[in-house]
Amino acid sequence: MSGPLVYTVGMAPGRLFIDGRWEDAACGRTIDVVNPATGERLTTVPDADACDVDRAVAAARASFDNKAWRGMDPSRRERILWNVGELLLKHRDEMAAIISRENGKTLREAAGADVAPAADCFRYYAGWVRKICGETIPVDGPFLNYTLREPVGVVGAIVPWNFPLSIAAWKVAPALACGCSVVLKPSELTPLNALKLAEIAAEAGVPEGVLNVVTGYGPTAGEALALHEDVDKISFTGSIATARKLLQASSVSNLKRLSLELGGKSPNIVFADADREAALKAALWGIFGGKGEVCSAGSRLLVQEEVHDSFLEELAARARKLRVGNPQDPATQMGSQISARQMDRILDYIECGKREGAKLLAGGERDTAGEKARGFFVQPTVFSEVTPAMRIAREEIFGPVVGAIRFRDAEEAVRIANGTIYGLAAAVWTRDVRLAHRMAGEIKAGSVWINTYNGFDSASPFGGYKQSGYGRDLGSYALEQYTNVKSVWVAL
Ligand code: NAD
Repeated sequence: MSGPLVYTVGMAPGRLFIDGRWEDAACGRTIDVVNPATGERLTTVPDADACDVDRAVAAARASFDNKAWRGMDPSRRERILWNVGELLLKHRDEMAAIISRENGKTLREAAGADVAPAADCFRYYAGWVRKICGETIPVDGPFLNYTLREPVGVVGAIVPWNFPLSIAAWKVAPALACGCSVVLKPSELTPLNALKLAEIAAEAGVPEGVLNVVTGYGPTAGEALALHEDVDKISFTGSIATARKLLQASSVSNLKRLSLELGGKSPNIVFADADREAALKAALWGIFGGKGEVCSAGSRLLVQEEVHDSFLEELAARARKLRVGNPQDPATQMGSQISARQMDRILDYIECGKREGAKLLAGGERDTAGEKARGFFVQPTVFSEVTPAMRIAREEIFGPVVGAIRFRDAEEAVRIANGTIYGLAAAVWTRDVRLAHRMAGEIKAGSVWINTYNGFDSASPFGGYKQSGYGRDLGSYALEQYTNVKSVWVAL
C-alpha cells in the first residue's frame, strides 16, 4: 500500500501527490478551481513550481531505480492496474460529479466519456502487462540475438481540461503497464479528478512514487517538467502552441522524447446518398457533444450540394432545440464552456464568421438565460455558406460552432477535407462502399469514421497526421511510446 492518504477529494482543498503523500506547494500559493457553470469557486489546489516538480520527479526516479514497480511480478502489476479500473467504476458517480463540476460538461458525458473509458483503459493495459516482450532474431554468425522491451523511465504526462480523466488514463495506464514511473500534470482548470485518480491508484496498490500528481500552471509546473533533465519522455495532449514550447524545452534540455496529440478541424463529410437520419444525429452530436470542446469535433461539415440546404435546415432546427444548462441536471444536453476566456474566444470566432460572410442559421450568441448568466454558456451555433478560406473553416474554435461547406463531388470533398494544417479525424457518410473506402484512403487523418462518428476504443489507436501531432495513444501502438528496445548479442 502507498503512503498516508490524508486527503479525500470532496471539494476540500487539493494537495500535490508526491511519493505517496499529500503535500502543499513549497511556495504555499494556490490556484482557485472554478465551476464554469456558475462562476463559483469550488476549492483550491497547490500552484506548484519547479521545486515541487523536482520533488515529484525525484520520487518517480527513485521508484524507477529501486524497481518498486517495474521489478514487481507482472501478474501482480496486472492485478493492480485492473484494480485501478475497477475502483474508478466503483467511484464512478463521485468522479463524474467532480469532472462535471470542474469542467462544465454534463454528468452523463462525464460518466460516459471520461470515467467509463478511463476505467476500460486501465483494464485494457492491465491485459498488456504480461504480453510486452521482445523477440529472438535470426542474425548471421554464431550469435544469439534477442530484444528486450524496457520501460523508458520517468514519464511526464501533461494533459488538457476537455477529457481530463480519460486522456490522463490514455497516458498513465500504458506508461504503468510498461513499467514506467509517472508525473501527471493536469490542466490548472481541471485538477481535481487527477487527485482522485492518484488516491484510487494508491488504494489499488500502485507503490509510492510510481504515480505522482503535480497541479499547477503550464508555464511554471508544465514547463519545469518539460525542461527537467531527469524526465525521459513527455506525453502531451493539448494545443499546437504548447507543443512547440515542449519541442523547444526538449531540445534545450535532455532531448527527451515526445508524443503529441494536438488539435483538429475535422471534416464530417455527408454525401447525397447518406443515411440522412444517422448523418444528422452525428452532425449534431459530433459538434455539440462535449460542448464542442472536443479535439475530434466535426467542426467542418461538408455536405454534397444536392442535399445541402435541407440537411442544414434540419440540423439548425435541432441545434435550436438543444437543452443548454445546468450540467448536473439529467435533462441537460449541453453544459457550459470551460472558462470565461474560452467562451470569449468562441464568441470572437462567431463574430469573425459573421464578418467573413458566413450565414448564421442557429445560435450565435452567449446564452445568458436565467441562471446561465452566472456561467459561461454559448448557444449551439450553425453557420452555412462557409468557404474553406474563412478563418472559421481553418482554425480550431474548440466550442459549439459548426461551419457547413458545400461540395460537388468526392474529389472536391477530399481537397477541402485535406485543406487545413490539421489531420486528427474525419468522417464519411455514404451508402457506396467503394467510395467510402476510397475516401478513407485519401483523407489525411489519424482516424476516419465511415457512417459513424467519434468511434473510440482502448484497443484502437488515436492520434494525428500533420500538425495534429505524432505518436499514438491507445491500443498496442501506445506501448511504443513508453518502451525502449534493447538488442542483446550473445556469442555462441
Ligand atoms: P494547452 O496546450 O493550453 O494545455 C494543455 C496542457 O499543457 C495543460 O495541462 C497546460 O497547463 C499545459 N501547458 C500549457 N502551457 C505549457 C507550457 N509552456 N509548458 C508545459 N505545459 C504547458 O491546451 P488546452 O487549452 O488545455 O486544451 C485544448 C487544446 O488541446 C485544443 O487545442 C485541443 O484540440 C487539444 N486537444 C487535443 C486532443 C487530442 O487528442 N489530439 C485531445 C484534447 C484536446
